[in-house]
Amino acid sequence: MAHTSASAGALLRHVRTGRARSRADLVALTGASRNTVSAKVDQLIAARLLEEGGRGWSTGGRPPTILQFNSGAGCVLAVDLGVTSVDVAVTDLSARILATVGHPIDIADGPGPVLTEVDRLAQEVLAEAGLTPGDVCAVGVGVPGPVEFSTGRPSHPPIMPGWHDHPIPSAFARYECPVYVDNDVNVMALGEIGVEGSVQDLLVVKVGTGIGCGVIVEGRVYRGAQGSAGDIGHISVHPPDGRTVVCRCGNENCLEAIAGGGALLRDAVAAGLDVATTREVVELAVQGDGSALELVRDAGRTIGTVLAALVNFFNPHRIVMTGGVAQAGAPLLAGIREAVYGRSMPLAARALEITVSDAPERSGRVGAALMAIEEFLDEDSVQSLAR
Ligand SMILES: [Zn+2]
Repeated sequence: MAHTSASAGALLRHVRTGRARSRADLVALTGASRNTVSAKVDQLIAARLLEEGGRGWSTGGRPPTILQFNSGAGCVLAVDLGVTSVDVAVTDLSARILATVGHPIDIADGPGPVLTEVDRLAQEVLAEAGLTPGDVCAVGVGVPGPVEFSTGRPSHPPIMPGWHDHPIPSAFARYECPVYVDNDVNVMALGEIGVEGSVQDLLVVKVGTGIGCGVIVEGRVYRGAQGSAGDIGHISVHPPDGRTVVCRCGNENCLEAIAGGGALLRDAVAAGLDVATTREVVELAVQGDGSALELVRDAGRTIGTVLAALVNFFNPHRIVMTGGVAQAGAPLLAGIREAVYGRSMPLAARALEITVSDAPERSGRVGAALMAIEEFLDEDSVQSLAR
């Protein structure tokens, strides 16, 4: 195995993720000297981020002292902002939810009223958990639109009118701590690995009104140069019936214009189904309605052709489907699998798992917490804490 960084943040991460349980493990993982590792571990213990537990198994000589991450060293606020509702949670530094509250909102009311409501809910959950604003180490916020990650400002979000360029972190000034904002798909992707507890290469594909993809590389979100990595909704596809559909972005035959939630509803109405929302189409498919099943399966095939290309390019361990349309389950997966296994190279597809998220409602909050924890406990903040 290649040796990795031996910064305080990297050492802490090895212990947090369970890869290292002792100073000896850290020396083996990083290739750094015993003295270097011990000095940084002592700093992390002084900062209360690591604790020494009992004795582990020895392979000869004195058994090593077990190192444990102290997830109670602080708490984070996790905000999962949707189009019609918001969930706010306070978690420990392992993203374990200590208290949570949800409330209906209308994202189109704009940042002023919505963030005032979020602020009120945050104070409510903190009080419920018996914590104060001073206990909050970091805030993580997921929003339903593209975000410039370095500034926490939405960038021309199509379903968040009035939010373009709004500095979301400023709404959390009372906590005097770092605030991280990202799009809901990246946040949900982190929530998926948090819930599963594994470090893998993973694509988390959300099929709601739009279609987006969270790219996880070795357990971490890959955002790309400007933060728009995984924006797969506007990749050009060939519709099954050869027609041309103009997308809301102005281009023709984008993936989401052919296979997104809005497209599914449009095609269901055109096929004569008595439905008013995408959710109703999905419910009909779950109940076994033949036309709805065929539409969902077609959407799956179209999404699958794009995913097949991504599999060839990225070779993930797993693809997890989430979002409202993914609730259709089996027919969507059948269409996706047909296209992915039919079009991916055998080596990339051999061990690939394609599943539907088993806790979509939880992954937004857990993911927002994990994003805040990951960023807060990265190199710089840990260095300053452990100084
Ligand atoms: Zn488009």
